Amino acid sequence: MRQFGDLPPEVFFKEDLLRVGLSLGSVDSADNPYQKKSYFIFSFDRTPIQEMHQRENLRAPEEIALIGGPHNLRRTIVSVRLNPASPYHLEQDQDGYLLRLEGETLCRVEFPPEPQHYRRTLRNGKAVSEIAPCIEWGYLIYLTVFRRCQYVGSDQECRFCDINANFDQQRSAGMPYTTVKSLEEILEALEIIAESDTRSQAYTLTGGSITSTLRGKSEADFYAEYAEAIENRFPGKWIGKAVVQALPKEELQKFREAGIRIYHPNYEVWDPRLFALLCPGKDQYIGRQNWIDRILAAADIFGPPCVIPNFVAGVEMSRPYGFTSVEEAIHSTAEGLEFFMSQGIAPRFTTWCPEPLSNLGSQEPAPLEYHLRLLQVYRGTLAKYRLNPPPGYGPSGAGQAVFSVSSFMDVLPHLSPMPLAIS
Ligand code: SF4
Repeated sequence: MRQFGDLPPEVFFKEDLLRVGLSLGSVDSADNPYQKKSYFIFSFDRTPIQEMHQRENLRAPEEIALIGGPHNLRRTIVSVRLNPASPYHLEQDQDGYLLRLEGETLCRVEFPPEPQHYRRTLRNGKAVSEIAPCIEWGYLIYLTVFRRCQYVGSDQECRFCDINANFDQQRSAGMPYTTVKSLEEILEALEIIAESDTRSQAYTLTGGSITSTLRGKSEADFYAEYAEAIENRFPGKWIGKAVVQALPKEELQKFREAGIRIYHPNYEVWDPRLFALLCPGKDQYIGRQNWIDRILAAADIFGPPCVIPNFVAGVEMSRPYGFTSVEEAIHSTAEGLEFFMSQGIAPRFTTWCPEPLSNLGSQEPAPLEYHLRLLQVYRGTLAKYRLNPPPGYGPSGAGQAVFSVSSFMDVLPHLSPMPLAIS
């Protein structure tokens, strides 16, 4: 903390929790119903469910808020990644919950309250929490409408991604994991949410890539149909975001016309060699240069601030292909940030969690030093190009941010979200 004195103290613990995970102790929801981890797309755990002997997957909260403690932490929202061997241990006492690091109390912890609609079911008996879970402390409704990816196997699937393996482990664990959520299910779940919920501000429409067709539709046609139905039924109620591949402009136009405001063509890793090795399907089907060109072209449709490619922060140091020094990894990703931000496009991060069921398997995460330096570079490059914090993530700033899978919003100055221009 002395070495990175310009970073808020909260982000040291948030990034560390995201990279190493936490162990759950005897926490349960008997006296205090809280919002449970929904496994909204990937596992984001450091341990397979099969090895969770305390049934942690059924008890874990979706997120935790770190508060107070010896470092006087401002309220900091962190996504829960389970790891029974983590030095971070969540415990319950008579006053609530607390987080210990190697036995020392780090801070008090709050769990997200269970949204009223989490107890409701659709007409077909499925839980609203399965069809339309909420993350980011209720800010974002996460609609994984296709729970598998058509990039399958080690020559296609992104090597850090466990979407297909997680689907299989959830089904093996008896969870009602729906492969393709129907339009009717999504609309009915949103109706129920709209009746009582006051926290959600945005939805993300996403799922695995579609390389051929799904139910007779291309990737753009499949996902855009949901956007159109949602926006017809709830015009402008939420900020519509779509995570799909880097598609040609005419395909993206369908999303914009349907009412999607923010587009996430997730780029994952900047280095050309690593892009080919870690995202073999994306490299074969679309190609790195094409992916870049399409990101830039998308700015004509959505506007540069509303094109937000995700980088998997830290995966550029994964074994066996990644950089072996923090210096090289930072240098590479800084180059990618510089490239996009100089054109008004601000990427965002998901802190890499080495998922044991992904092709890369269980391994050490990137060093904390890497993540801290990356946050410095991100903040510095954003300031250099005078860009605002990316829209669609709620407020920025330590103590205010709700984005839970990276601290990139926590390190930026506090700003209330800017209203999106209607065009
Ligand atoms: S495109 Fe890659 S990251 Fe996305 S779901 Fe498929 S395998 Fe996972």
